[in-house]
Amino acid sequence: EVVVVGSCMTDLVSLTTRLPKAGETILGHKFFVGFGGKGANQCVQSARLGAKTSLICKVGNDSFGNDYVDNLKKNSISTAFVGQTADAATGTASIIVNSEGQNVIVIVPGANLLLNFEDLKRASDVICKAKVVVCQLEITPAVSLEALKMARASGVKTLFNPAPALADLDPQFYTYSDIFCCNETEAEILTGIPVGNLEDAEKVGRMLLERGCKLVIVTLGAEGCMMISGDEPIPKHVPAGKVRAVDTTGAGDSFVGALAFYLAYYPKLSMEEMIRKSNCVASVSVQAPGTQSSYPYRKDLPQDLF
Ligand code: ADP
Repeated sequence: EVVVVGSCMTDLVSLTTRLPKAGETILGHKFFVGFGGKGANQCVQSARLGAKTSLICKVGNDSFGNDYVDNLKKNSISTAFVGQTADAATGTASIIVNSEGQNVIVIVPGANLLLNFEDLKRASDVICKAKVVVCQLEITPAVSLEALKMARASGVKTLFNPAPALADLDPQFYTYSDIFCCNETEAEILTGIPVGNLEDAEKVGRMLLERGCKLVIVTLGAEGCMMISGDEPIPKHVPAGKVRAVDTTGAGDSFVGALAFYLAYYPKLSMEEMIRKSNCVASVSVQAPGTQSSYPYRKDLPQDLF
Protein backbone atom coordinates (compact mmCIF):
# COMPACT_ATOMS: atom_id res chain seq x y z
CA GLU A 1 0.00 0.00 0.00
CA VAL A 2 1.02 3.60 -0.71
CA VAL A 3 0.30 5.92 2.23
CA VAL A 4 0.37 9.67 1.66
CA VAL A 5 0.39 12.08 4.60
CA GLY A 6 -0.45 15.51 3.23
CA SER A 7 -2.75 18.23 2.03
CA CYS A 8 -6.10 18.65 0.31
CA MET A 9 -6.93 22.02 -1.26
CA THR A 10 -9.97 23.16 -3.18
CA ASP A 11 -8.82 25.21 -6.17
CA LEU A 12 -11.11 28.17 -6.94
CA VAL A 13 -10.08 29.33 -10.36
CA SER A 14 -11.25 32.51 -12.15
CA LEU A 15 -10.19 33.28 -15.72
CA THR A 16 -9.94 36.98 -16.58
CA THR A 17 -8.37 39.06 -19.36
CA ARG A 18 -6.12 40.85 -16.86
CA LEU A 19 -5.33 40.72 -13.15
CA PRO A 20 -7.25 43.19 -10.94
CA LYS A 21 -5.43 46.04 -9.16
CA ALA A 22 -5.80 46.64 -5.41
CA GLY A 23 -9.36 47.79 -4.64
CA GLU A 24 -10.57 47.04 -8.13
CA THR A 25 -13.46 44.79 -9.18
CA ILE A 26 -13.27 43.25 -12.64
CA LEU A 27 -15.32 40.71 -14.55
CA GLY A 28 -14.00 37.27 -15.31
CA HIS A 29 -15.28 35.07 -18.11
CA LYS A 30 -14.99 31.64 -16.52
CA PHE A 31 -14.91 30.04 -13.08
CA PHE A 32 -14.27 26.47 -12.03
CA VAL A 33 -13.56 24.47 -8.91
CA GLY A 34 -10.79 21.87 -8.97
CA PHE A 35 -9.32 19.34 -6.56
CA GLY A 36 -5.73 20.06 -5.58
CA GLY A 37 -3.26 20.00 -2.71
CA LYS A 38 0.04 18.22 -3.20
CA GLY A 39 -0.74 15.32 -0.87
CA ALA A 40 -4.05 14.49 -2.49
CA ASN A 41 -2.65 15.00 -5.99
CA GLN A 42 0.15 12.52 -5.41
CA CYS A 43 -2.23 10.02 -3.84
CA VAL A 44 -4.68 10.33 -6.75
CA GLN A 45 -1.94 9.66 -9.32
CA SER A 46 -0.76 6.57 -7.42
CA ALA A 47 -4.32 5.29 -7.12
CA ARG A 48 -5.04 5.83 -10.83
CA LEU A 49 -2.06 3.63 -11.68
CA GLY A 50 -3.58 0.87 -9.58
CA ALA A 51 -2.00 1.34 -6.16
CA LYS A 52 -3.96 0.59 -3.02
CA THR A 53 -3.76 3.97 -1.28
CA SER A 54 -4.62 5.75 1.95
CA LEU A 55 -4.52 9.50 2.38
CA ILE A 56 -3.95 10.82 5.89
CA CYS A 57 -5.17 14.40 5.83
CA LYS A 58 -7.65 16.89 7.30
CA VAL A 59 -10.43 18.86 5.65
CA GLY A 60 -13.15 21.12 7.05
CA ASN A 61 -16.63 20.10 8.08
CA ASP A 62 -17.96 22.10 5.15
CA SER A 63 -19.19 21.53 1.62
CA PHE A 64 -15.67 21.71 0.13
CA GLY A 65 -14.58 19.08 2.64
CA ASN A 66 -17.54 16.81 1.84
CA ASP A 67 -16.87 17.18 -1.88
CA TYR A 68 -13.22 16.39 -1.33
CA VAL A 69 -14.00 13.18 0.53
CA ASP A 70 -16.28 12.16 -2.39
CA ASN A 71 -13.47 12.92 -4.83
CA LEU A 72 -11.04 10.70 -2.92
CA LYS A 73 -13.59 7.87 -2.82
CA LYS A 74 -14.19 8.20 -6.57
CA ASN A 75 -10.46 7.71 -6.98
CA SER A 76 -10.61 4.51 -4.88
CA ILE A 77 -8.50 6.08 -2.12
CA SER A 78 -9.13 4.88 1.45
CA THR A 79 -10.63 7.76 3.45
CA ALA A 80 -10.45 5.96 6.81
CA PHE A 81 -7.91 8.56 7.97
CA VAL A 82 -9.38 11.65 6.35
CA GLY A 83 -10.34 13.83 9.31
CA GLN A 84 -13.08 16.47 9.13
CA THR A 85 -12.82 19.34 11.59
CA ALA A 86 -15.24 22.08 12.58
CA ASP A 87 -12.34 24.27 13.72
CA ALA A 88 -11.10 25.38 10.30
CA ALA A 89 -12.25 25.50 6.71
CA THR A 90 -11.03 23.11 4.03
CA GLY A 91 -7.80 24.40 2.51
CA THR A 92 -8.31 26.61 -0.53
CA ALA A 93 -6.24 28.03 -3.33
CA SER A 94 -7.93 31.09 -4.87
CA ILE A 95 -6.40 31.48 -8.29
CA ILE A 96 -6.83 34.23 -10.90
CA VAL A 97 -5.38 33.53 -14.34
CA ASN A 98 -5.17 36.21 -17.04
CA SER A 99 -5.25 35.66 -20.80
CA GLU A 100 -1.45 35.49 -20.91
CA GLY A 101 -1.50 32.61 -18.46
CA GLN A 102 -0.02 34.70 -15.64
CA ASN A 103 -1.60 34.05 -12.27
CA VAL A 104 -1.97 35.32 -8.73
CA ILE A 105 -2.71 32.76 -6.04
CA VAL A 106 -3.75 32.96 -2.38
CA ILE A 107 -3.50 29.72 -0.44
CA VAL A 108 -5.31 29.38 2.89
CA PRO A 109 -4.18 26.04 4.36
CA GLY A 110 -7.02 25.98 6.92
CA ALA A 111 -7.75 22.42 8.10
CA ASN A 112 -4.47 21.13 6.63
CA LEU A 113 -2.58 22.79 9.48
CA LEU A 114 -4.74 20.99 12.05
CA LEU A 115 -3.51 17.54 11.02
CA ASN A 116 -1.56 16.52 14.13
CA PHE A 117 0.46 13.84 15.90
CA GLU A 118 -2.73 12.28 17.32
CA ASP A 119 -4.03 11.76 13.79
CA LEU A 120 -0.77 10.02 12.88
CA LYS A 121 -0.99 7.83 15.97
CA ARG A 122 -4.49 6.73 14.99
CA ALA A 123 -3.15 5.80 11.57
CA SER A 124 0.04 4.17 12.85
CA ASP A 125 -1.04 0.70 11.69
CA VAL A 126 -1.40 1.74 8.04
CA ILE A 127 1.77 3.84 8.18
CA CYS A 128 3.85 1.03 9.63
CA LYS A 129 2.47 -1.61 7.25
CA ALA A 130 2.81 0.53 4.12
CA LYS A 131 5.28 -0.21 1.34
CA VAL A 132 5.95 3.52 0.86
CA VAL A 133 5.08 6.62 2.89
CA VAL A 134 4.99 9.91 0.97
CA CYS A 135 5.13 13.39 2.58
CA GLN A 136 5.33 17.03 1.48
CA LEU A 137 5.25 20.41 3.26
CA GLU A 138 1.69 21.70 2.84
CA ILE A 139 0.86 20.50 6.36
CA THR A 140 2.66 21.34 9.62
CA PRO A 141 6.30 20.35 8.86
CA ALA A 142 6.72 18.65 12.26
CA VAL A 143 3.81 16.35 11.38
CA SER A 144 5.40 15.40 8.04
CA LEU A 145 8.66 14.69 9.80
CA GLU A 146 6.96 12.55 12.43
CA ALA A 147 5.28 10.50 9.68
CA LEU A 148 8.67 9.91 8.05
CA LYS A 149 10.10 8.85 11.42
CA MET A 150 7.22 6.42 12.07
CA ALA A 151 7.72 4.90 8.63
CA ARG A 152 11.48 4.60 9.04
CA ALA A 153 11.10 2.96 12.46
CA SER A 154 9.07 0.19 10.76
CA GLY A 155 11.41 -0.19 7.81
CA VAL A 156 8.93 1.45 5.43
CA LYS A 157 10.42 3.30 2.45
CA THR A 158 10.12 7.09 2.73
CA LEU A 159 9.60 9.43 -0.22
CA PHE A 160 9.77 13.12 0.65
CA ASN A 161 8.88 16.03 -1.60
CA PRO A 162 9.98 19.32 0.07
CA ALA A 163 7.21 21.41 -1.46
CA PRO A 164 6.58 24.23 -0.99
CA ALA A 165 10.26 24.64 -0.14
CA LEU A 166 11.45 26.06 3.18
CA ALA A 167 14.84 27.78 3.24
CA ASP A 168 15.34 26.60 6.82
CA LEU A 169 14.19 22.99 6.39
CA ASP A 170 14.84 20.90 9.51
CA PRO A 171 17.96 18.82 8.62
CA GLN A 172 16.24 15.69 9.95
CA PHE A 173 14.12 15.68 6.78
CA TYR A 174 17.23 14.60 4.87
CA THR A 175 18.18 11.80 7.22
CA TYR A 176 14.63 10.41 7.35
CA SER A 177 14.16 10.49 3.54
CA ASP A 178 15.10 7.43 1.53
CA ILE A 179 14.22 9.41 -1.57
CA PHE A 180 14.28 13.20 -1.60
CA CYS A 181 12.50 14.49 -4.70
CA CYS A 182 12.39 18.21 -5.53
CA ASN A 183 12.05 20.47 -8.57
CA GLU A 184 14.50 23.16 -9.69
CA THR A 185 12.88 25.97 -7.67
CA GLU A 186 12.83 23.91 -4.50
CA ALA A 187 16.44 22.84 -5.05
CA GLU A 188 17.47 26.49 -5.38
CA ILE A 189 15.68 27.52 -2.17
CA LEU A 190 17.29 24.62 -0.28
CA THR A 191 20.84 25.17 -1.57
CA GLY A 192 20.96 28.80 -2.71
CA ILE A 193 22.13 27.63 -6.15
CA PRO A 194 19.94 28.38 -9.19
CA VAL A 195 19.43 25.34 -11.43
CA GLY A 196 19.74 26.37 -15.08
CA ASN A 197 21.26 23.27 -16.66
CA LEU A 198 22.13 19.62 -16.05
CA GLU A 199 25.46 20.47 -14.40
CA ASP A 200 23.71 22.69 -11.85
CA ALA A 201 21.22 19.90 -11.20
CA GLU A 202 24.11 17.46 -10.52
CA LYS A 203 25.72 19.96 -8.20
CA VAL A 204 22.62 20.73 -6.11
CA GLY A 205 21.73 17.04 -6.09
CA ARG A 206 25.14 16.17 -4.64
CA MET A 207 24.78 18.91 -2.01
CA LEU A 208 21.37 17.60 -0.94
CA LEU A 209 22.62 14.00 -0.89
CA GLU A 210 25.45 15.00 1.44
CA ARG A 211 22.84 16.23 3.92
CA GLY A 212 21.93 12.61 4.60
CA CYS A 213 19.35 11.12 2.22
CA LYS A 214 20.00 7.96 0.23
CA LEU A 215 18.85 9.23 -3.14
CA VAL A 216 18.05 12.65 -4.57
CA ILE A 217 15.88 13.24 -7.63
CA VAL A 218 15.75 16.74 -9.11
CA THR A 219 12.86 17.05 -11.59
CA LEU A 220 13.67 19.26 -14.56
CA GLY A 221 10.37 19.78 -16.40
CA ALA A 222 10.70 18.86 -20.08
CA GLU A 223 14.27 17.66 -19.40
CA GLY A 224 13.05 14.86 -17.13
CA CYS A 225 15.11 14.27 -13.99
CA MET A 226 18.58 14.12 -12.53
CA MET A 227 19.13 11.19 -10.17
CA ILE A 228 21.94 11.33 -7.61
CA SER A 229 22.41 8.17 -5.60
CA GLY A 230 24.59 7.44 -2.61
CA ASP A 231 25.32 4.03 -4.19
CA GLU A 232 26.58 5.30 -7.55
CA PRO A 233 29.32 7.89 -7.98
CA ILE A 234 27.97 9.23 -11.27
CA PRO A 235 24.69 11.20 -11.36
CA LYS A 236 22.28 9.98 -14.01
CA HIS A 237 20.16 12.15 -16.28
CA VAL A 238 16.86 10.42 -17.07
CA PRO A 239 15.25 12.36 -19.96
CA ALA A 240 11.49 12.72 -20.45
CA GLY A 241 9.84 12.00 -23.81
CA LYS A 242 9.15 14.89 -26.17
CA VAL A 243 5.49 15.90 -25.87
CA ARG A 244 3.35 18.94 -26.62
CA ALA A 245 2.71 20.41 -23.16
CA VAL A 246 -0.57 22.30 -22.71
CA ASP A 247 -0.64 22.65 -18.89
CA THR A 248 2.20 21.59 -16.62
CA THR A 249 0.40 22.39 -13.33
CA GLY A 250 0.71 19.43 -11.00
CA ALA A 251 3.28 17.61 -13.17
CA GLY A 252 5.62 17.25 -10.19
CA ASP A 253 2.84 15.66 -8.13
CA SER A 254 2.01 13.26 -10.96
CA PHE A 255 5.69 12.28 -11.02
CA VAL A 256 5.90 11.73 -7.23
CA GLY A 257 2.63 9.76 -7.19
CA ALA A 258 3.84 7.55 -10.03
CA LEU A 259 7.21 6.99 -8.36
CA ALA A 260 5.45 5.92 -5.14
CA PHE A 261 3.43 3.41 -7.19
CA TYR A 262 6.55 1.88 -8.78
CA LEU A 263 8.41 1.77 -5.46
CA ALA A 264 5.51 -0.08 -3.86
CA TYR A 265 4.52 -2.45 -6.65
CA TYR A 266 7.68 -2.95 -8.76
CA PRO A 267 10.42 -2.86 -6.10
CA LYS A 268 12.73 -4.99 -8.27
CA LEU A 269 12.99 -2.39 -11.03
CA SER A 270 16.14 -0.28 -11.03
CA MET A 271 15.73 3.25 -9.75
CA GLU A 272 16.53 4.57 -13.20
CA GLU A 273 13.77 2.46 -14.74
CA MET A 274 11.26 3.64 -12.11
CA ILE A 275 12.17 7.25 -12.86
CA ARG A 276 11.91 6.67 -16.62
CA LYS A 277 8.42 5.20 -16.19
CA SER A 278 7.37 8.01 -13.81
CA ASN A 279 8.57 10.55 -16.38
CA CYS A 280 6.28 8.87 -18.91
CA VAL A 281 3.27 9.13 -16.60
CA ALA A 282 3.99 12.80 -15.73
CA SER A 283 4.56 13.67 -19.39
CA VAL A 284 1.07 12.38 -20.18
CA SER A 285 -0.33 14.64 -17.44
CA VAL A 286 1.11 17.79 -19.06
CA GLN A 287 -0.77 17.10 -22.29
CA ALA A 288 -4.20 17.80 -20.74
CA PRO A 289 -5.49 20.84 -18.82
CA GLY A 290 -5.95 20.97 -15.05
CA THR A 291 -4.25 19.20 -12.17
CA GLN A 292 -5.93 15.95 -11.07
CA SER A 293 -8.14 16.13 -14.17
CA SER A 294 -5.01 15.63 -16.30
CA TYR A 295 -3.67 12.58 -14.41
CA PRO A 296 -3.79 9.41 -16.50
CA TYR A 297 -5.39 6.12 -15.48
CA ARG A 298 -3.62 2.80 -15.90
CA LYS A 299 -5.94 1.78 -18.75
CA ASP A 300 -5.00 4.86 -20.78
CA LEU A 301 -1.24 4.32 -20.59
CA PRO A 302 1.10 2.15 -22.67
CA GLN A 303 0.93 -1.30 -21.06
CA ASP A 304 4.74 -1.65 -21.03
CA LEU A 305 4.68 0.78 -18.09
CA PHE A 306 3.25 -2.09 -16.02
P1 ADP B 1 6.87 20.81 -11.01
O1 ADP B 1 5.50 20.50 -11.48
O2 ADP B 1 7.06 20.54 -9.56
O3 ADP B 1 7.40 22.15 -11.41
P2 ADP B 1 8.56 19.70 -13.09
O4 ADP B 1 8.18 20.85 -13.95
O5 ADP B 1 10.01 19.46 -12.86
O6 ADP B 1 7.83 19.71 -11.69
O7 ADP B 1 7.94 18.41 -13.78
C1 ADP B 1 7.89 17.15 -13.13
C2 ADP B 1 7.99 16.04 -14.13
O8 ADP B 1 6.91 16.15 -15.08
C3 ADP B 1 9.25 16.06 -14.98
O9 ADP B 1 10.31 15.42 -14.30
C4 ADP B 1 8.78 15.32 -16.23
O10 ADP B 1 8.74 13.94 -15.97
C5 ADP B 1 7.34 15.80 -16.38
N1 ADP B 1 7.24 17.00 -17.24
C6 ADP B 1 7.06 18.28 -16.86
N2 ADP B 1 7.02 19.13 -17.92
C7 ADP B 1 7.20 18.35 -19.01
C8 ADP B 1 7.25 18.60 -20.43
N3 ADP B 1 7.13 19.85 -20.92
N4 ADP B 1 7.44 17.55 -21.26
C9 ADP B 1 7.57 16.29 -20.78
N5 ADP B 1 7.52 15.99 -19.47
C10 ADP B 1 7.34 16.99 -18.58
